[in-house]
Amino acid sequence: MSTANAYGADLQPFAGIPSFMRCPVTRDLAGVDVAVVGVPFDGGTSYRSGTRFGPRQIRAASLLLWGYNNPLAVRPLEALRVIDYGDVDVIPPDIEATMRHITAEVGGLLAAGLTVLALGGDHSISLPLLRAHAQRHGPLGLVHFDSHPDTWESEFGGRPYSHGTPFRRAVEEGLIDPARSIQVGLRGPTSGAADWQQARDLGLRVITMDEAAELGVPAVSQAIRQTARGPLYVTFDIDAADPAFAPGTGTPEVGGFTSHELLRLVRGLRGLDLRGFDLVEVSPPFDHGDITAILAANLAFEFLSLLADLRRAA
Ligand code: MN
Ligand code: MN
Repeated sequence: MSTANAYGADLQPFAGIPSFMRCPVTRDLAGVDVAVVGVPFDGGTSYRSGTRFGPRQIRAASLLLWGYNNPLAVRPLEALRVIDYGDVDVIPPDIEATMRHITAEVGGLLAAGLTVLALGGDHSISLPLLRAHAQRHGPLGLVHFDSHPDTWESEFGGRPYSHGTPFRRAVEEGLIDPARSIQVGLRGPTSGAADWQQARDLGLRVITMDEAAELGVPAVSQAIRQTARGPLYVTFDIDAADPAFAPGTGTPEVGGFTSHELLRLVRGLRGLDLRGFDLVEVSPPFDHGDITAILAANLAFEFLSLLADLRRAA
């Protein structure tokens, strides 16, 4: 496939207007398999913000992706019709209205039969994304890569919504089935022993970073596959990566995964019943040399490759 497109030229990676991997920017859903959707919202952030600039920077970094996935032997943009939907309508000072917009817009895409790959934005966006996906698919198993469990009771003055609470709310609302859900990469100092225990008490399986390092990537992938059965939603907080590999994020925790380990862990999801994806917490104002955005773009490419591989197997 040539890179000739609506812009009317064979574009080099440094030229033109960046949609995700040069996918057409359209809201015409006819014949479309996958929509890449930006959610530029960082009003749920507890420390340093800036993830509202994440979708734009990930799109720019995606232009360097050449298109063929060697480990999976697939070319996702040929196997699937992918569009760049653009961004959900967010309202910076109003998290609840923004969440309603996310659920409504993404719900419309799912109702049309598309799979959605959402680019955040902070992790608060996963709750409205899960609401939309559970409406379509029923309760989902969750595969959650993160250095934090994001299962706090509340974070700011008893308010229910922030990037520290989405998965407690998701369990409470019955959007995810805890028995089919797993969190991978937890680490760092916490407010106390309860932080991680609360996630386990909700019924989620937890593999801490120390456990993951001890087990190694293949055994972690095996543990994920044992737990994450049935229809699945994948949520990927870029701070699962070590800050050396992803400095551009709001709440960095040292001692995390390398880029290569994360690529392998994502490829380890091959063949699972994957219904939706988000990739969150990329904060370009704290990035250096686009390290974080480039990693995020590559992870998004791996997600598309997994879907393309599923399509081939179907
Ligand atoms: Mn995190
Ligand atoms: Mn998170």
